[in-house]
Amino acid sequence: SEQREAFSSLPRYVRVNRLQLAEDLEILKKRLTKALRRAAGSEPKHSEATRVEVDAVVPNVLRLPADSRRWLRELPEVESGALVLQDRSSCLSALAAGLVPGSFVLDSCAAPGSKTAHAIELLHAQGRLAAFERDPKRAAALLKRLRLLVGFAEKSPKKRKGRHGPEAKSKASVLKWGSQIRGRCWAGATGAEGVEVDVHVGDFLDTNPALPPWNQVDVLIVDPSCSGSGLPEHHLIDATAETGTSRRVQRLAAFQKRILSHALSFPKARTVVYSTCSTLRLENEDVVEEVLCRYPGFEVVEALPWWQNASDPVTHKCRGFFLCRLDRLENLVHGPG
Ligand code: SAM
Repeated sequence: SEQREAFSSLPRYVRVNRLQLAEDLEILKKRLTKALRRAAGSEPKHSEATRVEVDAVVPNVLRLPADSRRWLRELPEVESGALVLQDRSSCLSALAAGLVPGSFVLDSCAAPGSKTAHAIELLHAQGRLAAFERDPKRAAALLKRLRLLVGFAEKSPKKRKGRHGPEAKSKASVLKWGSQIRGRCWAGATGAEGVEVDVHVGDFLDTNPALPPWNQVDVLIVDPSCSGSGLPEHHLIDATAETGTSRRVQRLAAFQKRILSHALSFPKARTVVYSTCSTLRLENEDVVEEVLCRYPGFEVVEALPWWQNASDPVTHKCRGFFLCRLDRLENLVHGPG
């Protein structure tokens, strides 16, 4: 089918991590094109195989040929975290969250941390972010990624001495359930500021939104586990992919509704961005619609002026993705009188 064809030839994308690399996009594009040609061992002037493009709409994203993944993975800029292997669709959530310096952001389902790192960058070295991940192994991967991409550094390193101290734990490949790793990202900071970042190894649903610090959260990023029906592997390998009514999808949708409802119950939340890499209505529009019935204080607003809510591989040359931004209704923020 057309979809299958599109999935099998999806371009690769890199997001330029502006906390590490200030290079102009056009210059970077030329540099990568040259390097890719050198690696291919040929000089095909306008060959598709070595074409690098600046993404037409998503800021700081470059598009590379479908088969460049291996080459990209070994690129020094990717190893150092200056370039992030991230599908263009995955870059939309943090952009749609309308972050401003000083925001208090909560990323409810954070690992492996692509959106977390992007959100930290968009805070421009001022603000606070709490990241939740309930799988201890994935939480360790998240922490590692934050160290690489956004310069996450644990607080009070002097206290971390000793084999059983928090450092011993956080360096391990599995973090302890219930632990909280406090730190700061100084990258991009010029003065005493920096983004305060806490990684919580635990269930986002266990937070009590009425209590500090959660009652101060401004923005929530909700990117829960989903069927992944928008991912290429789903279409190319798993030919028996479930339909929108399978038991698994229904269970996932019930879970997604709980997570999104919980996010909307944070008293100071002004924006909640909900996303999935699913193309199923049951996990997307239906989740938002049902949850909004219970939380009428929020409304669906335009997430990004240059992007529709959903993406599909044929039109957008990227993974299937769903994005929805919910804002608190103005009149309810201030209350009557
Ligand atoms: N936002 C991530 C990114 O861009 O890299 C991808 C998130 S992935 C789709 C969903 C993650 O949420 C998984 O790592 C899963 O373990 C975690 N998760 C699921 N339910 C959770 C919960 N109730 N609390 C915290 N984390 C949860």
